[in-house]
Amino acid sequence: MTTKELADLMFPDITKTIEDYEKEYPERPEGTVVTRYAPSPTGFMHIGNFYSVVCDYVIAKRSNGVFFLRNEDTDQAREVEGAVEYIMHVLDHYEFHPDEYEIKGGETKGSYGPYIQSERKDIYKAFIKYLIAEGKAYPCFMTQEEMDVIRENQSKAKVRIGIYGKFAKSRNLTPDEAAEKIKAGEQYTVRLKSEGNFNNKFKFNDLANGEMDLHENDIDTIIYKSSTELPTYHFAHLVDDHLMRTTHVIRGQEWMSSIPTHYELFKTFGFKMPKYVHTPLILKKDGDKIRKISKRLDPEARMTYYEEKGYPIYAVIEAIMTIANSNYEAWREGHPDAPFTDFEFSAKKMSPSGALFDLDKLDNISKNYISRLTKDQVFDFLNTWTKEYDEEFNAVINKDVDYTKAILNIEREQKKPRKDYSCWSDVKNSIWYMYNDLYKPESYAWGKINDLNEIKDILDKYINNFYNESDDKEAWFNHVKELTESLDGYTSDMKAYKENPDNYKGNVADVSTVIRVALTSKDQTPDLYEIMKLLGKEEIVKRINSL
Ligand code: GLU
Repeated sequence: MTTKELADLMFPDITKTIEDYEKEYPERPEGTVVTRYAPSPTGFMHIGNFYSVVCDYVIAKRSNGVFFLRNEDTDQAREVEGAVEYIMHVLDHYEFHPDEYEIKGGETKGSYGPYIQSERKDIYKAFIKYLIAEGKAYPCFMTQEEMDVIRENQSKAKVRIGIYGKFAKSRNLTPDEAAEKIKAGEQYTVRLKSEGNFNNKFKFNDLANGEMDLHENDIDTIIYKSSTELPTYHFAHLVDDHLMRTTHVIRGQEWMSSIPTHYELFKTFGFKMPKYVHTPLILKKDGDKIRKISKRLDPEARMTYYEEKGYPIYAVIEAIMTIANSNYEAWREGHPDAPFTDFEFSAKKMSPSGALFDLDKLDNISKNYISRLTKDQVFDFLNTWTKEYDEEFNAVINKDVDYTKAILNIEREQKKPRKDYSCWSDVKNSIWYMYNDLYKPESYAWGKINDLNEIKDILDKYINNFYNESDDKEAWFNHVKELTESLDGYTSDMKAYKENPDNYKGNVADVSTVIRVALTSKDQTPDLYEIMKLLGKEEIVKRINSL
């Protein structure tokens, strides 16, 4: 029996050849940059995955290229329900709409599909069949127990672990011997008949990590399993990224060690390898240490965190771009309104040793961004977020939309807007006291003046003699100053106060703190004049009387 006959015996129904598929999936127009996000639906999205997606998107979009989504569901035992839907949701949320994708049992876009690996069985088999026929791969009948023994012995003898050279027991079976086992119904895997020599090195250029000298692969890697009729990741990557005409494979650092295998696979078929970008690990500061961000320890490792907190997508993307390319921030300063895809992204500028992700930095980016939004934009974002995450607050802000917008507009839409929110979940904490429905102070943050009798006395004087609902800001402040002057031992002259603080019981700022805390229970709020204007006389008097 020849290897060709063995291939026919193993895959009798596979009639299409590699040439047929080459025709079916022709090269894309010259120069098209093609990137893909290829998640396995075995878990939820990590910030490291998101980092790769941002790179995929920006690299494709900068050159009007193609960004597609491929569902790598070959490990069906580990599939997690809802994972695919969640991935689609994240892409949608961040507006990284793939140009090509497929939803199981639903919509497909693009002509290089199927985009779900479990639907590509026949394609993979055609490629496996070719290798068997050429004698470049072989069926392997080793059992798990046999492989465990080999591994144990290798480990004892301190030799390299793996099925290579003399350890590859099925490698030298004749086609007849292999055929006999297959006919007897034995399960098998298909292994690459490696021609590599571990002692030889080859040069490999990763766009982020630079040029490297790597050992050739000599492992007879498993590329297909008869039990599932599916290929392993290595083989699926080769077939899919070749036929889908991917130009840039952007994936996590953990795949770097597979390069020798992938290099040999591409060489075996004579296919051009795509360019590779192995993205750095995402690091975080933990006290004075820097360590890898961890799904277990750090809630911010999961992409759900940012949506639950209500970070604007702009801020999250900016934070990633800032760590992905060190010159991004400077570019952003010069181009405050440009879409991030205008930035000349360069994989070469990534730091291969790790990317330090800092939540404070994200908060800063986000505060700046939110401060520049109009009250209408802030309201819309807040409305959308609260609908999902805080129904009670959603009802409150919608009771009187104009009132809410007026609150959101305090110290906004002006030259130096207030920067107090980094995410939508911050808002309630900062404005709840503006709503009568929510105003139930548990404690008051009195400052220097904290004797309740004295406080009541100051407030009585204020309401009866100095407060005038129709004051403009200047008149309002003059009235607070006059109130201060009327109190024994207080001054509105800050200069005099600073020179001799011991001569006074307090100053105009302490008196306005009393008013602020009496009305809001907080000692830090946005502009008090604006707050009082919105609360109105009736509510002001009510709050003061309830002390
Ligand atoms: N399915 C692989 C993963 O989720 C894809 C790696 C790649 O992008 O090639 O890690």
